[in-house]
Amino acid sequence: MIVTRNPATEEEISNYPTLSAAELHSRIERSASAFESWKSTSIEHRADLLRRIASEIRNSLEDSARMISIEMGKPLSEARAEVEKCAVGCEFYAEHGPGFLAKEEVKTDASKSYVRFDPLGSVLAVMPWNFPFWQVLRFAAPTLLAGNVGLLKHASNVTGCALEIEKILHRAGVPEDVFQTLVIPSSDVASVIENRNVRAVSLTGSEAAGSAVAEVAGKHLKKLVLELGGSDPFIVLEDADLEKVIPKAVQSRTMNAGQSCIAAKRFLVVQSVYPEFVERLTDAMREIQLGDPLDASTKMGPLAREDLVEDLDQQVKKSISQGAQLVTGGKKLDRPGYFYAPTVLAGATTEMTCLKEETFGPVASVASVANADEAVRIANSSKYGLGGSIWSQDISRAEQLAAQIESGSVFINDFTKSDPKVPFGGVKDSGYGRELSVFGIREFVNTKTVWIA
Ligand code: NDP
Repeated sequence: MIVTRNPATEEEISNYPTLSAAELHSRIERSASAFESWKSTSIEHRADLLRRIASEIRNSLEDSARMISIEMGKPLSEARAEVEKCAVGCEFYAEHGPGFLAKEEVKTDASKSYVRFDPLGSVLAVMPWNFPFWQVLRFAAPTLLAGNVGLLKHASNVTGCALEIEKILHRAGVPEDVFQTLVIPSSDVASVIENRNVRAVSLTGSEAAGSAVAEVAGKHLKKLVLELGGSDPFIVLEDADLEKVIPKAVQSRTMNAGQSCIAAKRFLVVQSVYPEFVERLTDAMREIQLGDPLDASTKMGPLAREDLVEDLDQQVKKSISQGAQLVTGGKKLDRPGYFYAPTVLAGATTEMTCLKEETFGPVASVASVANADEAVRIANSSKYGLGGSIWSQDISRAEQLAAQIESGSVFINDFTKSDPKVPFGGVKDSGYGRELSVFGIREFVNTKTVWIA
């Protein structure tokens, strides 16, 4: 049985029976037989279905947004934006996906040779709760368009969202067995990957989950894409315009209550602007309105689960004991719900927990650096390599620095975000493979050579 709980009130929302081993097996069999007919549908038909999914998503936007807010605690305005982004993502792949998968002729010694992109079969998605709709749709849109069928194992605390997404896709006309939500605990994931009918896996989540899934996928030779944690650097150079930078720094660190893999987490600020940066960042963090996610005035809700707020608090306490200066926040709020005060830790160094580990909550760790070279060195000292940003008025200098940063993306004068038009993913412990754009849709296809003598 899976029990979901409202993180703003700590009250139980609902409970869901999990699939038995026999039911799970039968669902995977159904998925495999659905693939046999789905792979023969035309890509135009599948693109059309994506457009219908986009329209169904918009038709039920309010209900979906409410479900997101109640299950994982993000403010309703952020939830609405997330749902709308899903519709845009579907439309993007409806329009561009057929081109991304079009046959590519290659000049060789053959009379004719080309590359085709054929589907693989059933693809399992193990997804997290932080963007419960977007994470799933950014997997489902390219995967289904390519002619694969999808199996979703969503994070347990957003089981309501998982079932809602399944309903939306079915209402749009996706055949029932072509996309299925499996209500199972994480301990059952290995048995799904082991099943010979499951051909590939995509996981977004922690390194622990990624490593556990990679072990099974590796053993059974299944293709895998991993999008794991991040501790993105936010590099502020001496010529950055703080008037513009501070609101972006706050937004990037506190959106979704800081629970984003690509949130800015390590603020590396050149010493000449460091005191002013800390002061202005602190003022802005103190102004954030915390409260009920369903209340229109709320800018930040609770963290998604009790264990997450406990873990974050431990990381902050440990960092302070290691010498970080607590400028504001640093505590759970004394009220029901898993609320954590927006926090600024100054004087952060690479030996401290707050720079070493991923802080998945509203905690800004700020380090003073001598110059751009030191900022890059500290940025690259992390085991993670997901995103990052550089703030400077000298674009060509920022571009040179971007080339030196070990991460899957670097944004200049903007914070890191996901956009269907560009690839998303990381290096080092942040994972491998890419989602979104042409690169994402080509992860789960058989890139096949056809050679005619
Ligand atoms: P998890 O990695 O535990 O959960 C993500 C998904 O993986 C869920 O569907 C979960 O299922 C599943 N899962 C967990 N363990 C296993 C396993 N051994 N085998 C197969 N599937 C598994 O993240 P948490 O929710 O516990 O969050 C912990 C930390 O992970 C965060 O503080 C953050 O650092 C990081 N994280 C990163 C995310 C990102 O966007 N990159 C997203 C979420 C978390 P179930 O819910 O049933 O356990």
